[in-house]
Amino acid sequence: MIPAAFDYVRPATLDEALAVLAERGEEAKALAGGHSLLPLMKLRLAQPPLVVDIGRLAELAGVRREGDELVVGALTRHADLERSELVRAELPLLAHAAGTIGDPQVRHRGTIGGALAHADPAGDLPAVLLALGGSVVARSVRGERVVPADELFTGFLETSLAPDELLTEVRLPLWPSAGWSFQKFIRRAQDWAIVGVAAVVQAGRAGVGLVNMGPTPLRARGVEEAVAAGASPAEAARRAAEGTDPSSDLHASADYRRHLAEVLVRRALEEATAPAAAR
Ligand code: FAD
Repeated sequence: MIPAAFDYVRPATLDEALAVLAERGEEAKALAGGHSLLPLMKLRLAQPPLVVDIGRLAELAGVRREGDELVVGALTRHADLERSELVRAELPLLAHAAGTIGDPQVRHRGTIGGALAHADPAGDLPAVLLALGGSVVARSVRGERVVPADELFTGFLETSLAPDELLTEVRLPLWPSAGWSFQKFIRRAQDWAIVGVAAVVQAGRAGVGLVNMGPTPLRARGVEEAVAAGASPAEAARRAAEGTDPSSDLHASADYRRHLAEVLVRRALEEATAPAAAR
């Protein structure tokens, strides 16, 4: 449980951090909350020669509304999302999902940028990003680009971010008056989801993201199409496992996960379309 030796730098500004990554990106790893990277390093599943600590770059934290989007800084902690009046009012799905992550200690250290850049299929926030149809801003010394959620997750713990890029912002479209639901199936409080579903429904349009249903975070496109075509929650939920590739492990077999996905998507759509769900 002791990581391999590594160099450590703590840039004082975002520009300094980007300059370090421009020079040594291939061998460097950004450190945000450290709640995914450090366990991997201790298990020696990750052995970056250089750790670039971005955790205190205040310019990367905070939430603001810009037009019809919420813009969330990459270093915004899960606990801040959970408590933010703005997030609770404008995107309650995000505030709620953030509040289900791990325990208070994890939520006070973990960041939304780290959760998305880590791309864990068992993570909760990638499914929320996919359901809402958001995007992330990636910055390097070469400039800035916007990466839509559908193009971010490329493989198991892999994203389309380049080694010299930092995820700086998460842009989430508002879904005014939409109903929403977050279903997280766990055996014990504070566990990771065995399967999870993030859903938002607005006037016959749905966004649905799945947790732990394949090697990457996934969007349930079949379900979204069915809702758009007027299907009931139960009918739409029958398409929950389409395009998924869940694993079998200690907690559940792949078949059980497929079954759970259907049940949880039905519950999510029912909750999101119940009259009281609209906000
Ligand atoms: P770090 O660990 O610092 O980084 C993770 C990866 O992202 C690294 O590869 C790093 O280089 C990269 N990275 C970080 N920030 C950036 C950036 N701005 N730009 C580019 N790359 C970046 N998550 C859940 O979703 N649900 C849970 O129920 C849950 N339970 C947990 C329980 C425990 C006990 C622990 C330890 C973690 C749990 N997590 C859970 C994970 C937690 O949410 C992590 O904090 C999160 O996944 C990673 O965020 P971080 O800020 O800690 O990232």
